Amino acid sequence: MHEHRIVNPATEEVVATVAATTPAEVDAAVARAAAAQRRWAALPPADRARLLRRFAAAVDDHREELAQLEVREAGHPVTNARWEAGNVRDLLDYAAGGVERLTGRQIPVDGGIDLTFAEPLGVVAVIAPWNFPMPVAAWGTAPALAAGNAVLLKPAEATPLTALRLAELGLAAGLPEGLFQALPGDGPVTGTALVGHPGVAKVVFTGSTETGAEIMAACARQVKPVTLELGGKSPNVVFADADVEAAAAAAPASFLDNTGQDCCARSRILVEHGVYDRFLELLEAAVKTFRAGDPAAEETRMGPLISAAHRERVRSYVPEDAPAAIRGEIPAGPGYWYPATVLEAAPEDRAAVEEIFGPVAVIMPFEDEDDAVRLANATDYGLSGSVWTRDAGRALRVSRSIAAGNLSVNSHSSVRYSTPFGGYRRSGLGRELGPDALTAFTQTKNVFLSTEEQQ
Ligand code: NDP
Repeated sequence: MHEHRIVNPATEEVVATVAATTPAEVDAAVARAAAAQRRWAALPPADRARLLRRFAAAVDDHREELAQLEVREAGHPVTNARWEAGNVRDLLDYAAGGVERLTGRQIPVDGGIDLTFAEPLGVVAVIAPWNFPMPVAAWGTAPALAAGNAVLLKPAEATPLTALRLAELGLAAGLPEGLFQALPGDGPVTGTALVGHPGVAKVVFTGSTETGAEIMAACARQVKPVTLELGGKSPNVVFADADVEAAAAAAPASFLDNTGQDCCARSRILVEHGVYDRFLELLEAAVKTFRAGDPAAEETRMGPLISAAHRERVRSYVPEDAPAAIRGEIPAGPGYWYPATVLEAAPEDRAAVEEIFGPVAVIMPFEDEDDAVRLANATDYGLSGSVWTRDAGRALRVSRSIAAGNLSVNSHSSVRYSTPFGGYRRSGLGRELGPDALTAFTQTKNVFLSTEEQQ
């Protein structure tokens, strides 16, 4: 049996060992899920909604336990981890409200009545990353279950503990046995077995663009739909007419939250040249207040990176002699710590082009609105972005000109369970969350019923 050692990234201590799911176990899990899905889809919609609300209540009752697991396996600051567990509850509640609103249409046709039905797909695989194990798992799981599907969740190798606990809570809340299973394991073994399984009707993947492209190719062979939430290199555009103090105060969290391991991190800070020096000065002071330390402490804002290997990857973007404009502080001792870093970069520098996925941002000046849009779009990604200005017309003009799926004006918010989320370009395919989230887990059946008199 193959086991993974789960390591607390803040202490480097092993906190658990978890058995990896073998391909034969994936086969058995798919069979159980398919049987459970048929029972689930046959339940009255109000009963399915009620069970999902019970699942949400169970998550709420265990919010602190789930948060503490995330502190241990992912090094998330405990205040963030509590929000993440609460987000799972909210996603389940929101999706539960959709069960009884998943209506079809009645289309006017000649000689009868035409009806459409939003039917479930069957068994859905959700492949989650290690950066936000709970929320991302629930983004796929909650609407898929609500639309009448079964879900097999493969968490990242580094962070399976909350996924396993959520599956237990779902079962205890009354979901049919097998309907929602967590299958920990390696991407190339367990993940590949799931993606290629003919009994899996859809794959929802969040992670790197490279792995997402491989999964899409594997799904293509079986004409299997995918939703992909991939990488980002999102701009934070600060115009001279903005509230520069507010923009600088908000900037640290936009690239340091979750230690920068966030697909929406605003890791390219673009500042209009007239206020560049002032902004940099204010940003430095703000970064220094973004406290890195023990994730279990209430006042901690930033934890460690997920692993030693990932820290080496992040470090490779910051050469020893790089002129760091800003450098934060980190605790001494064990743990995969990396300091908050802001680099003054040219648009073509590797650090300005590639997703670093760590607490590192680049900052550069721009001349005018056209230049800002040009720089903002100088990336293959297109997930998020922020625009800081007091001019409402400019805010909308620039938001519409940036090739990204989620823009935020005078703030850095991009993910709410009630609004659609997803990427342009190589940041993804399809949308999650929001009022249409369930639709991504249905297929339309059209039925024509003749009203002609029968002979
Ligand atoms: P991956 O994209 O490789 O992993 C994400 C998930 O996919 C994990 O559950 C992983 O399992 C699984 N997986 C990996 N390969 C396969 C496969 N062939 N078939 C099916 N599932 C697979 O990300 P990494 O963890 O390797 O991170 C590398 C980089 O990706 C990061 O540094 C970051 O830049 C980016 N990334 C972006 C994320 C985002 O939210 N946009 C999230 C995570 C990473 P396992 O954990 O076992 O490898």
